[in-house]
Amino acid sequence: VLNAMEEPSDNRQKKVVAVVGGGLVGALNACFFAKRGLDVEVFESREDIRQAKVVKGRSINLALSHRGRQALKHVGMEEKIVSQGIPMHARMIHSLNGKQSPIPYGKKSQYILSVDRANLNKQLLTEAETYPNAKLNFDHKLQDWSAEKGLMTFVRSDGTKEHIQADLIVGCDGAFSAIRKQFLRRSRFNYSQTYIPHGYMELTMPPINGEFAMKPNYLHIWPRNTFMMIALPNLDKTFTCTLFMPFDEFEKITTGDQVIEFFQKCFPDSIPLIGADALREDYFRLPAQAMVSVKCSPYHIGDKCVLMGDAAHAVVPFYGQGMNAGFEDCIVFDEIMEQFNEDLAAVLAEYSRVRVPDDHAIADLAMYNYVEMRAHVNSKWFLFRKHVDNI
Ligand code: FAD
Repeated sequence: VLNAMEEPSDNRQKKVVAVVGGGLVGALNACFFAKRGLDVEVFESREDIRQAKVVKGRSINLALSHRGRQALKHVGMEEKIVSQGIPMHARMIHSLNGKQSPIPYGKKSQYILSVDRANLNKQLLTEAETYPNAKLNFDHKLQDWSAEKGLMTFVRSDGTKEHIQADLIVGCDGAFSAIRKQFLRRSRFNYSQTYIPHGYMELTMPPINGEFAMKPNYLHIWPRNTFMMIALPNLDKTFTCTLFMPFDEFEKITTGDQVIEFFQKCFPDSIPLIGADALREDYFRLPAQAMVSVKCSPYHIGDKCVLMGDAAHAVVPFYGQGMNAGFEDCIVFDEIMEQFNEDLAAVLAEYSRVRVPDDHAIADLAMYNYVEMRAHVNSKWFLFRKHVDNI
């Protein structure tokens, strides 16, 4: 669809869209653009994860909720993804003495879903490929681009470069977006980035006798005020446990015995479920990962480029809405395309106008829930209120 050129050329007639980043939001966005009938190409720096032996990346599973589902529905993917998710009707609070108390998310019929990140990404890429007007390019890392010309330079793993031109560039290249770098050089672009003092580490809780080690239809939480552990179920009957803790605390633990001592003190009921030997080893497998919150505005440059997903708004994961908000970006953009008859100058300006305040609100809520999940859910008042409200 797009021309790979040795020399840039401006002789293009047909409007084409380049989506930079084939992660969750980029892959879904490609479906949206293709469904509209536009020529779309995705440029992803990694190799094709559907063929890769090891898929590097962030959390193993994620919580999919209403706003994400709405966007999936729009491209006919909702049922497929929901059928491979595990409903979580409530939080399950683990107290220090091992007592478990559920706090429902809403009414009885309401739930969020635990879905496998890699599988979701693969399915969205495969769906994008079903459109004849969509093409996926892997091993294409964006190195540089020009907002004036809409010209991008990609570098391949063998060192070769490709110059690609598009009418619209959609930056879906994540929290450390290379597309966003150009925005930073421009006047009247607002930008802030905050690393929280906590890091996260993932640990696996295996099945016991072929069954889930804990009740599966819950998002399990061990809130310990200044830190916490959570666990989400997977289809293979494992749980992925994520320990969120200040980096200083992670660094204090340097031996297997110290890991067990720490878990004994803070999450004793989880030790037999994860397994003491596995804990001793898995804790040191990978260093704790950082979490960043990024806010910026506007999300667009003229009629040429727009940011979506984490590239526009990386949020801390405590509200479970990063991907969901990114998915919602796609549906909002699509609605505005309809409203403004695909007049890109008008669409992009309107998109920034309506979307920036909403995404900033999600970022603030996520930061608030950072305290809510590890501390407030612990308080007797919170448990009492939830009981009284019957939610
Ligand atoms: P990404 O998933 O980061 O994808 C960006 C893509 O761009 C990648 O494939 C990358 O390889 C590619 N790329 C990067 N640079 C370039 C380049 N220069 N050229 C070409 N390609 C490039 N969200 C939820 O909704 N629910 C949850 O429960 C949840 N849990 C989370 C738990 C943790 C621990 C973390 C860290 C995040 C969680 N999130 C959750 C947030 C969610 O992971 C992100 O919001 C989501 O991944 C954003 O998708 P994205 O496509 O915008 O970015």
